[in-house]
Amino acid sequence: MVGHGGHVGRTSVISVLVLGLVLCVATLPGRAGAWGFDGHHATCLIAESLLQPATLKAVRSLLPEYANGSLASLCLWPDEIKRMPNYHWTYPLHYIDTPDLLCSYDYERDCYDEHGNKGLCASGAINNFTSQLTKLQLQGHSRPLLRKAHETEHNFTEALLFLSHIVGDIHQPLHVGFTSDGGGNTVLVEWYTHKTRLHHIWDDEIIERAKDLYYNKSLSTMVDAIMLNITNNSVDQGQLWSECSNGEIACPDTYATEGVNLACQYAYRNAAAGSILADEYFLSRLPIVESRLAQGGVRLAAILNRLFSAKRSSHRLTFL
Ligand SMILES: [Zn+2]
Repeated sequence: MVGHGGHVGRTSVISVLVLGLVLCVATLPGRAGAWGFDGHHATCLIAESLLQPATLKAVRSLLPEYANGSLASLCLWPDEIKRMPNYHWTYPLHYIDTPDLLCSYDYERDCYDEHGNKGLCASGAINNFTSQLTKLQLQGHSRPLLRKAHETEHNFTEALLFLSHIVGDIHQPLHVGFTSDGGGNTVLVEWYTHKTRLHHIWDDEIIERAKDLYYNKSLSTMVDAIMLNITNNSVDQGQLWSECSNGEIACPDTYATEGVNLACQYAYRNAAAGSILADEYFLSRLPIVESRLAQGGVRLAAILNRLFSAKRSSHRLTFL
């Protein structure tokens, strides 16, 4: 089932405490990683730069005060709390396991957790949290109404943070990977001079290396370059990414299908366990990583603009 809003609502008090502990929670080894800090930060920074004024106002009104109006500063939060008992049910929301070697995604076939609960995967979560936030949009988004909204079954702050994070995750190709290797988590390879998991290369290593080599170790410089690439490429490219063919607010099944195709074409290709991956792999996969960061950011902005923009008919992104 998709509707786990009740869990989010009941944990609202805990969440205030948890949000303050973001940086204190140890990261334990697990089934699946996620875009690391840089990947999520980049996705959310790109999205924030594309938010319409009314959307930005609504987003900021949902953020806790200590975020200082920065959505990107809290985009990693769902990873920080996913192993805590109250949030353990959210763990499978970060990825989708698809049948080995099929290179396809099917919501009915693939979107469930280990207990068989339907909708508990990244795609179902994006639909669920988008749907929750739609209810906020219908109530308006001034501060007094928000306070009233917090008394309902939904915690809209958490919904915003989960949505922002998971739109990032679903764009990491190995987050829609094969079941038996946990999206490349059990595939051990050599990355230049050290051993690591194939999944980790896509979460962190490619971004880290690019940042060090080309962007003076600065994520914001890398994000600026990615943004420039979107705008230089053509506005239509961003517009194309942002649209859902069925007219829905979000279309995560499309993102997931793209993801598993890229996983097969690029991530898994020539990267069997024991492979030595270096320049050839890095240089040919970096454009995919940068493009998926851009797509994640553009689409997150489009979803939030569709949710919160005063003129719902005006879905066009503004490239600043
Ligand atoms: Zn994640």
